[in-house]
Amino acid sequence: MSEEWLRTEVAMCVRMLEVLGLVDFSGHVSCRIPGRERLLINSWGASRHGLGPEDIVESDLDGKPIEAGVILPSEIAIHTSVYHHRPDVHAVAHLHPPVTTALSIAGKAYVPVMHHGGIFHEGVHVHDDCGHVHSPEKGDAIARVLGPRRAMIMRGHGAVVVAESVKAVFFGSVYLEDNAKKLADAYAMGGEPIPLREDEQLASARVWRQNQFDKIWNYYREKSGVTFS
Ligand SMILES: [Zn+2]
Repeated sequence: MSEEWLRTEVAMCVRMLEVLGLVDFSGHVSCRIPGRERLLINSWGASRHGLGPEDIVESDLDGKPIEAGVILPSEIAIHTSVYHHRPDVHAVAHLHPPVTTALSIAGKAYVPVMHHGGIFHEGVHVHDDCGHVHSPEKGDAIARVLGPRRAMIMRGHGAVVVAESVKAVFFGSVYLEDNAKKLADAYAMGGEPIPLREDEQLASARVWRQNQFDKIWNYYREKSGVTFS
């Protein structure tokens, strides 16, 4: 995949996540540039509601911008730390998903309750620190809580989703919040939500595949009306 196309994918992903309410005026998506020790990410200043491929900027894996005059997101350490700790990860999303975040504020456990929630069968751990991730040390703390899993929650702040591609990280982001919404509804009804049984979790985890990533991506691209000329 060309670097130009990766910029388009990252921009499209941010725009669709913003339409979905999973990022707002802040939040970011990055991806590795294959074969190079670099990443692409939306810039600090570009509005998440209107950005395009031209607003996707390049950084090294220590969080230093490649081009002059570029301002990276102030929480770039989330991305660089995850890439250092997880060679299998090629895309990272830092979201502000309202319901996923509210569960952490309420102290309610995040468990898979919906079919697609099984993609998080390894667990979604909560980082007990709502602060801004403005240093490599804070980024490393995020990566440690994430561990080998697909997502983690920053209490009272947001979430981090990781994947092998931009489309896959979009898919994971959509279903992290979708499962959270149903889970929160169940908590609100009282009693204990019924998590997917282990066999159900493993069965539903099989939706983690390319044709599913494409299907969800294409649906939300059409629905959101986001296009780049
Ligand atoms: Zn943040």
